[in-house]
Amino acid sequence: MPGAGNPEAKILMIGEAPGWKEDQYGKPFIGPAGEILDSGLELIGLKRSDVFIINVVNCRPPNNRDPRDTELEACRHWLDSQMIEIPYEIVVAMGRYASLALCPDVKPVDLRGSVHNHSGVLEYFMLHPAATLHNPHMKPGLDEQFRQLGELIA
Ligand code: URA
Repeated sequence: MPGAGNPEAKILMIGEAPGWKEDQYGKPFIGPAGEILDSGLELIGLKRSDVFIINVVNCRPPNNRDPRDTELEACRHWLDSQMIEIPYEIVVAMGRYASLALCPDVKPVDLRGSVHNHSGVLEYFMLHPAATLHNPHMKPGLDEQFRQLGELIA
């Protein structure tokens, strides 16, 4: 499943892997996690058409298990080539695997909510929207991270 969104976007968002619905329709974040993503974007006045979204893994891992190292490695060139094509100024890592893709040497939990300036490009690290599906108590934290992203963009 390729990335999707505005190919001229200044904001690139990186997720984990397609879920069941994404796998059926070939588009990222169109299932339950997508609804949460959309509500977070709306909170800061953004729409899907303002961003480009890609996943670190392009196929759905069976039963929604975590992606394996071999799968991450096999898909890495898709991530890298799309990161070259999109003229983004801010890249948003959503969740553990996106965080590791940008910053493999730091524990994702230690990066959450932080901003790095990487040669003029801003990297922002946040929770994966789907985390709040199973842990609703994390939703206020996710909303707060969307607000921080909004401030960064402003
Ligand atoms: N979760 C992701 O990380 N990506 C998707 O495309 C859907 C759910």
